[in-house]
Amino acid sequence: MTTQLLNCSGLVKRFGDVLAVDRADMRIDRGEFVTLLGPSGCGKSTTLRLVAGFERPDAGKIRIKDHVVADEGRHVPPEERRLGMVFQDYALFPHLSVLDNVAFGLRGDRKSRHRRAQEMLEMVGLAYYDRRMPYQLSGGQQQRVALARALAPAPDMVLLDEPFSNLDAALREQLRGEVRAILKQTGTTCLFVTHDQEEALSLSDRVAVMFDGRVVQMDTPSAVYRAPIDRHVASFVGEGNYLQARAVGERASCVLGDVVLQQPKQGAVMLMLRPEALSLSPLTADAGTTGAGRVLWREYYGHDQRVGVKLENGITLVARLGAVEDCEPGADVTVRVTGSGVAFPL
Ligand code: ATP
Repeated sequence: MTTQLLNCSGLVKRFGDVLAVDRADMRIDRGEFVTLLGPSGCGKSTTLRLVAGFERPDAGKIRIKDHVVADEGRHVPPEERRLGMVFQDYALFPHLSVLDNVAFGLRGDRKSRHRRAQEMLEMVGLAYYDRRMPYQLSGGQQQRVALARALAPAPDMVLLDEPFSNLDAALREQLRGEVRAILKQTGTTCLFVTHDQEEALSLSDRVAVMFDGRVVQMDTPSAVYRAPIDRHVASFVGEGNYLQARAVGERASCVLGDVVLQQPKQGAVMLMLRPEALSLSPLTADAGTTGAGRVLWREYYGHDQRVGVKLENGITLVARLGAVEDCEPGADVTVRVTGSGVAFPL
């Protein structure tokens, strides 16, 4: 039995002059939680709609388990793809009770459909809401019902398109953790779309980063963050400091001194250092000039802080430090590199 659940190869989708998806490749294993991450308009929703079967690709192939569901001559309709879907706008049937919404797509007699729907409601923590109508629920509760409905027929995979974007920050964080736990508990494979890098990194087994219709990197959250394949990916998945440097194998020298590289490079490079790879210490008389600078600003977050430092040569860097470290604006400091960097070609 293959462990691969979804295989998209060379997917292309045009809308008139717009090339929405441009030879996108993606492979997802059974039980994996994969996030499609990219800026607005890069083709994430269109890719999801191609997988769901709401759109037909102009080229390429989609395989779900061992079945080709889309290629040049073939288009298996959405209802035969065994996928569940949750979108950002809840999309519950307003005239049906919560229980009937969840039971809607199920087969069998009324009693067994309701039993299954009730089980699903219990799983999403809404066991006692079965008789309510959708308008009597909060946004977060409606999204849980939508998830229960999507999971009720035990689909091979669920597709989630920005399902939390209409919710406030606290609820969003709570619900996304719950949803991940439910999907892991049921062993359901998931393709999740978001433009929020924090959401993607915190939830996923793997992240597929998409730009201009193409999946440019697909890897674990830590690999995408720590070893992005290019500057585009690097700056989309997190903050970075960019410095000119000269690489010799696994080290590069820059204005902050010698830095260990994630991957060996040679010659002139652009070095990227994440803010947490920098540390600050009070400038002492014998410290030398390497890394000497002054704190410009500080943003305090409670759990940590972002600090802007201007080096003597005019370059401004951002460091992310523990909350207890003392660094008021105006303080003279030495910036040291305590983590590794990534070198990109100039
Ligand atoms: P967002 O994060 O803003 O939802 P996205 O990454 O999901 O964006 P898509 O919705 O897939 O991007 O759109 C990709 C491109 O295709 C955009 O330029 C969009 O305007 C275009 N597009 C999408 N659907 C259609 C359509 N039905 N007709 C014409 N153009 C479309």
